Amino acid sequence: MVSRVIPVQAFDLVIFGGTGDLARRKILPALFRRHCAGQLPQDARILGAARGALGSDGYRDLIRDALQNELSGADMAARGAELERFLARLEYLAIDAQARDGWAALKQMLGCPTSDRVRVFYFSVGPALFAPLAEQIWTHQLADDQTRIVVEKPFGHDLASAKALNRTLAGHFDESQIYRIDHYLGKETVQNLMAIRFGNMLFEPLWNSQYVDHIQITVAESVGVDGRASYYDKSGAMRDMMQNHLMQLLCLIAMEPPAKFDPDAVRDEKLKVIRALEPVEPHHIVRGQYALAEDGEGGDEDQSYRETVGDPRSSTESYVALKAHISNWRWAGTPFYLRTGKRLVARSSVINVFFKDAPHSIFGADAGRHANLLTIRLQPDEGITLKVTIKEPGPGGMRLIDVPLDMSFAQALGADIDGAPDAYERLITDVIRGNQTLFMRGDEVEAAWAWTDPIIAGWTSRGDVPKPYDSGSTGPGDADLLMRRDEREWRGINP
Ligand code: NAD
Repeated sequence: MVSRVIPVQAFDLVIFGGTGDLARRKILPALFRRHCAGQLPQDARILGAARGALGSDGYRDLIRDALQNELSGADMAARGAELERFLARLEYLAIDAQARDGWAALKQMLGCPTSDRVRVFYFSVGPALFAPLAEQIWTHQLADDQTRIVVEKPFGHDLASAKALNRTLAGHFDESQIYRIDHYLGKETVQNLMAIRFGNMLFEPLWNSQYVDHIQITVAESVGVDGRASYYDKSGAMRDMMQNHLMQLLCLIAMEPPAKFDPDAVRDEKLKVIRALEPVEPHHIVRGQYALAEDGEGGDEDQSYRETVGDPRSSTESYVALKAHISNWRWAGTPFYLRTGKRLVARSSVINVFFKDAPHSIFGADAGRHANLLTIRLQPDEGITLKVTIKEPGPGGMRLIDVPLDMSFAQALGADIDGAPDAYERLITDVIRGNQTLFMRGDEVEAAWAWTDPIIAGWTSRGDVPKPYDSGSTGPGDADLLMRRDEREWRGINP
């Protein structure tokens, strides 16, 4: 069942921020794996560009170290022989996004754009440099109609900044050339959401408010904000996770079936979901910030959020839970509960679809009733579980219990899933192939900010302070209250 690898066409990929954390930990390891899989053509070139006079040899040394650090021992043992061949593809140029340095050399190195080579500029730099880079590329005539740009998150800080960035990019590039990356969308299991929904007859007829009681989406992280503290403290969970990753999961779960699996058909449907979201009532949202666990064991990892960001009065949330409503025929009356947070009890991304009770029990009140529950685990142990009701075995009459129909993709697919490309591998090859399905369109991002902005503005105007929660817990108690008020409860974070 191992899928055939089809090489992508010849390309020149320029990674602005080629020496940065993301390039070293994600982008170059992803390219190395695709190289080893035989997907990069012989003459594909990768050019790291950043500030700092490193030279191509210095850059290859930097990336050699990065790959040796990032890839597991087994990965390296299997792929080590390819390392030097991969490094030979790399070049480096010192370029300043905000000055003239390096641009003429880049132009000379790349030559004129030609139709037989895809040219990609990856903006793996801080967001303040996205607009200057787009302008520099334009000024130095480095792009033609076929050139693509990849823009990292965060895409804007609010609606106004996202609009301004969209406007700047649109001044130099067509929407079909702009790839706004959300690595969540590149995950195998996130795409599987669409396969599960639209590849099976079983679920779709029940996928509406008549049969679904409510849906929970949880993206829990066990790590804190260490290493990203200064960025995160200006952002918070609402901007960093809810506005993009959870919003995208909500879209894939709630959207209408697109007519075909094509970029604009899928993105049109996602956009309709975001636009149908009702504003969130202040009492339907809970913010939290991790504190030290009462039984904290000490050590570097046991810092509170405020200690990590170095601001004893920070009111940035590291956790947010909310109840969302989608005002359309399919979902009116079915709440969506979304939560995400850091330093929680486990790392897990999971979607739970709670079906309604059967309308009538023929077995009588004493038999017990169990509604069906579909659990889609995105990580770890990707898979799906469907709880179905059966008779409790044994004599003594008809008593009902629920049992899981459980499928772990790793067990079902074995080596095929282990060898599947990771999110960055898939997304980068999609860029080279010109497939935008898994990238956010400008209007989608703006609609997501238009929904997010009033929530954040409300916190600011009310002087809202996030509720503390213990590191290693399931989040603040108020998030449980949010559910209890609706006579529901969160399903455990460990699926
Ligand atoms: P980083 O600070 O580690 O690296 C920044 C890079 O930009 C460096 O290579 C630096 O030399 C270069 N740079 C800085 N100023 C420059 C200038 N004036 N001209 C040219 N190059 C310049 O940042 P990072 O963590 O690699 O993040 C890069 C982008 O990716 C950011 O937008 C970030 O939000 C996003 N991102 C990062 C991660 C991650 O895990 N690191 C995850 C998701 C998104």
